[in-house]
Amino acid sequence: MRKAIFGLAASAMALTWGATPAAADPAAVKQAVAADYDSHLEDLFLHFHANPELSFLETATAARMAAELRAAGLEVTEGVGGTGVVGMVRNGDGPLILLRADMDGLPLPEKTGLDYASTATQVGQDGQEYPVMHACGHDVHITSMVGTARRLMATRDQWSGTLMFVVQPAEERVGGAAAMLEDGLYDRFGTPDYALAFHVASILPAGKIRPRKASSIPARIRSTSWSPGWARTGPAPMRAAIRSISPRRSSPRCNRSSAARWSRCHPP
Ligand SMILES: [Zn+2]
Repeated sequence: MRKAIFGLAASAMALTWGATPAAADPAAVKQAVAADYDSHLEDLFLHFHANPELSFLETATAARMAAELRAAGLEVTEGVGGTGVVGMVRNGDGPLILLRADMDGLPLPEKTGLDYASTATQVGQDGQEYPVMHACGHDVHITSMVGTARRLMATRDQWSGTLMFVVQPAEERVGGAAAMLEDGLYDRFGTPDYALAFHVASILPAGKIRPRKASSIPARIRSTSWSPGWARTGPAPMRAAIRSISPRRSSPRCNRSSAARWSRCHPP
């Protein structure tokens, strides 16, 4: 998670700076992320993991995210497309960059045996009660978003531009993004020049990041695959950015090319 926070923060800085964030001293950024993780983000992750909520019903999660982003100094709007949250940072001239995290859990019991395992249940939109678990890792995504926001706000003298943090409901039911767009996301907050997002993937070793082509979104980021060589030779402003981008299609649980995997992650 620390790597994801560093990657997202570095990516946004790269895009708003027009250069790689190397001059921002990556070691110092990593150290700051690690310190923030120990003092704040780990507890936040444990809270989110133990308190998952179903798609379109993420009211407590959204409220906590709004509070976290507001505390970080963002201008926060709640209730966008249902439970969606938008946090804006206007920091001078530069591109508008969207950073997105999904926040819903799945109707599954957690059987990990972890001491922070979810025991949550929730009545779904169909009126039935379900066990709920962050089985798709969205607790990591939203915690990373908070860490990214805190890092970028702490270093706002090192970049300029506008950031739009989007906390998206109902990724599992595949309706939350559309709901936010239909509620005027881009009309109300601006159309992004770039969009950054990632999804955890259990198929990858810990600490590894693998960008994939994101052909279904109108973004300028079009990396086709990750390789160390690409990171060294890709377009200069995007090298660091690409290091952190791992769109949801790279998730082994949620890969749309595999019906079995897709249905396992996204039950009806
Ligand atoms: Zn997911």
